[in-house]
Amino acid sequence: MTGDPYIEFKQQISQVIATDRIFDDPLQTLALGTDASFYRLIPRLAIQADSENEVSIALQAAHRFKLPVTFRAAGTSLSGQAVTDSILLIAGGSWNHYSIEDNGSKIRLQPGVIGGHANRYLASYGRKIGPDPASINAAMIGGIAANNASGMCCGTAENSYRTVSSMRTILADGTLLNTGDTNSREAFRRSHPEIIDALQELAVKTQANESLRERIRHKFKIKNTTGYSLNALVDYTNPFDIINHLMIGSEGTLGFIAEITYDTVIEHPHKASALMMFPDVNTACRAIPILRALEVAAAELMDRASLRSVQDKAGMPDYLKSLPEKVTALLVEVRAATKVELTESIDGVHKALAALATERPFSFTDDPDAFNRLWNIRKGLFPAVGAVRAVGTTVVIEDVAFPFDRLAEAALDLQDLFKRHHYHEAIIFGHALEGNLHFVFTQDFASQKEVKRYQNFMQDVCDLVVKRYDGSLKAEHGTGRNMAPFVEMEWGREAYELMQKIKAIFDPHNILNPGVILNENPHVHLEHLKPLPATNQLVDKCIECGFCEATCPSKDLTLTPRQRIALQREISRLQRDGANQGRLQYLTNAYRYPGEQTCAADGLCAVSCPVDIDTGKLTKYLRSLDLQASHIQSVANWMAGHFDKVSSVTRLGLATMDAAHRLLGTEKMQRLADQAHKLSGNRLPLWNPFMPRRVSRPQPGLEKGNGRPVVVYFPSCVARTMGPAADDPDRQPLYEITSRILAKAGYKVVLPENLDRLCCGTPFESKGLPDQANRKLRELETALMAASDGGERPIICDTSPCLYRIRQNGSDWIQIYDPIEFIHDFVLDRLRFTQSNETIALHATCSSIKMGLEGKLQKVANMCAKKVITPDRVGCCAFAGDRGFSFPELNASALQDLKPSLAADCTAGYSNSRTCEIGLSLHSGIYYKSLLYLIDRCTQPSV
Ligand SMILES: Cc1cc2nc3c(=O)[nH]c(=O)nc-3n(C[C@H](O)[C@H](O)[C@H](O)COP(=O)(O)OP(=O)(O)OC[C@H]3O[C@@H](n4cnc5c(N)ncnc54)[C@H](O)[C@@H]3O)c2cc1C
Ligand code: SF4
Ligand code: SF4
Repeated sequence: MTGDPYIEFKQQISQVIATDRIFDDPLQTLALGTDASFYRLIPRLAIQADSENEVSIALQAAHRFKLPVTFRAAGTSLSGQAVTDSILLIAGGSWNHYSIEDNGSKIRLQPGVIGGHANRYLASYGRKIGPDPASINAAMIGGIAANNASGMCCGTAENSYRTVSSMRTILADGTLLNTGDTNSREAFRRSHPEIIDALQELAVKTQANESLRERIRHKFKIKNTTGYSLNALVDYTNPFDIINHLMIGSEGTLGFIAEITYDTVIEHPHKASALMMFPDVNTACRAIPILRALEVAAAELMDRASLRSVQDKAGMPDYLKSLPEKVTALLVEVRAATKVELTESIDGVHKALAALATERPFSFTDDPDAFNRLWNIRKGLFPAVGAVRAVGTTVVIEDVAFPFDRLAEAALDLQDLFKRHHYHEAIIFGHALEGNLHFVFTQDFASQKEVKRYQNFMQDVCDLVVKRYDGSLKAEHGTGRNMAPFVEMEWGREAYELMQKIKAIFDPHNILNPGVILNENPHVHLEHLKPLPATNQLVDKCIECGFCEATCPSKDLTLTPRQRIALQREISRLQRDGANQGRLQYLTNAYRYPGEQTCAADGLCAVSCPVDIDTGKLTKYLRSLDLQASHIQSVANWMAGHFDKVSSVTRLGLATMDAAHRLLGTEKMQRLADQAHKLSGNRLPLWNPFMPRRVSRPQPGLEKGNGRPVVVYFPSCVARTMGPAADDPDRQPLYEITSRILAKAGYKVVLPENLDRLCCGTPFESKGLPDQANRKLRELETALMAASDGGERPIICDTSPCLYRIRQNGSDWIQIYDPIEFIHDFVLDRLRFTQSNETIALHATCSSIKMGLEGKLQKVANMCAKKVITPDRVGCCAFAGDRGFSFPELNASALQDLKPSLAADCTAGYSNSRTCEIGLSLHSGIYYKSLLYLIDRCTQPSV
């Protein structure tokens, strides 16, 4: 016995849960403890549970030691319900199984499935899950259900409460109940009669209590996530139905959701949107009941301050800047099963709104580009406030609902409150059909004066919402710690007591997320406020929302982008503070492997970040700090100045490895290479059987084709040195394939002068050597300028990361394309495609994704092969140039889902970056190479 219950708890659960999934060190507990809310609690222990049995064991032990447990899915919650200073039980990415039932009308989901993925699985059935939070591409089913999250379209009719069919749940004492299974229900009745009886009694009493019953019905006419889903006691009598529905919105305080089966809803294939500008909020709100009656899919209200916050951003309509002060917008979407029905709905909206004054005429569009531009206005609002906030301040998003017939009055009252409390940057937007308004403002939590201002403001907001409108203090985001002190104020004593009874029935020892939803501390919403100290301007705008986590290739191995930023913030804070040198030293050293070395620096995180943060840039900056020593700079300078020699050495190295492989055979070679890699402390690249063969430098004959027009071809240094893998039946270098396709299409191919010395700088940049990288890019530009006749001729580059760098950092005059993009855009009519009967795998590299090339790669691949597989859960491969050789575990972790996603008849894989293809081949067992090889096989000149 140690006297520390956490140590004893850890000892007990370690017998079942692998110790490498139990974290108690300062780095991981801070990283894993971070969520999107503005509260900071650091867990004593964080556990990545992998199975129902592990959750059950952990709960039983927690029960024994009376230790609080908080569940975690994606950590995108905003109200402080997913943080704890006790035990954090994470059921995230590994809980990703699903099954589709009854031809898509039901879907069974584990809690770690990302909401957007569930919709992808259902897309071919024309169905989707009901709940649609704006965070759906990051949030996971466990959190979506436990928060009863909702969004623009689902309203109160299609949220988790309305669409849950059954669930597997693990209660506080570790008991598993499957409400969809008769045997499990009967066993539960026998083992837990006290829960069944108590729930039935509560339901009977509540239904018999007219004033309480009607109050509950009234409160749920609009969106409401304040407190528990008391409607379960009014809507149902069967105890298992009551359990299913009480679990929804319970924020991990009643039990663990191990699996949920949803009734799915229709996803109409046709949709169109219109941005309507009304002269003021009153007129806009007069449109709302009309639009509700027409059953439009969404109507998003945006006040003038909202529109102002995005009006200067690229792609916004010019007229936003000149709108009068009181203008209020509604972004309206209609959806339909057929094009004809869509047109009828649009006509209906025009007719119904004809009598209302608008600031500008409006029209609906179903053109995807125009449609997306409109929705980008709405989606840009929250980030716009986040982006302009002062460093160190937090962006707060509140989430209230009013009776929808009083929305205009309520919006004006809120604007009044902003003025009174000097929140001049605050904006209001929201789901008008549901009376749900979000308001966003920036808040400094570093000074007591500012915390007091926030406290006074929130008190006034609560008074306004509850006393004046009898609205909801939390419509979608859950009560958390943020609204816990106001639950009784909103619901009244009787309903509040009912909530306390519910909690006591499910969790008599108060171990499940205590203090969340129900909390007797009137100041809990003002405690443990999260500091967001400055660390580096590359990431200071981060709001810790977590949207970047799902796509990060190191998320299952070490850290996510959000966690890297949270740790760097803490390191910077400790550096400034100076008080805790021990912690500073520990975090700085401990960060190196998970934070810096295993970041692929691919920048895919920026694609899903609402404020465009590329954490890879922070990593490269940190690497550059390590490389400032003059001897390292001298070596790098020499390499940049003698790139032809570096290429020759690479070729020699590849040739030597190839020869050794042939001599020793695969098994022996692998063993020796593993040993050498380990002995060198990861410095020697780890060989694998899919290593490329050396190719000789391009010869003059490559400039082929007599035709016009001319295209300049820059084969990257990788394509000039690395060929297909040793045993790949395709033996020709990529540059020969590329120039042959271009010649087939009637182009004359021209290479830049001094090709062997040229490089775009990517290998230097990724290592943190920006000066050498920029020098190489400038040299390349000079050569391309000459070859392209001063930028008149198009240029192609065959390696997507190099192309991306040239596009991002090169001069404006360069017209440079990926060869497949070039074929898609200019060459399709010059080639005759013959589709082969193969099943192939296609991998869009992160650079291709960032350049928006996925669709074009897919289209050209479909022209070449009968079946093209693009595995769902495979994102960035994390090979990252040569990092896959030094840290092969990163590549392995990023590609863990690749092999199981490929069909048995899939015999070849294609991509557009040679180094990425090495790792893809290794982890799939099939040869990956450039899609150009397949295009070459499947095409002939069209005449
Ligand atoms: C920018 C931004 C926009 C957002 N927009 C919306 C929106 O439009 N609508 C909306 O409703 N929300 C929104 N949210 C809030 C949040 O994204 C959602 O509520 C989301 O559903 C939370 O899911 P999660 O996977 O992140 O859950 P987490 O934050 O990890 O957890 C949420 C709660 O569920 C509990 N929990 C987690 N897993 C389980 C489990 N297996 N069993 C039982 N309890 C569990 C946790 O303890 C916690 O109380 C937004 C958040 C951000 C940052
Ligand atoms: S980096 Fe961007 S996406 Fe990631 S947590 Fe920060 S703000 Fe959110
Ligand atoms: S650059 Fe890549 S590996 Fe690094 S944090 Fe971003 S997504 Fe993750």
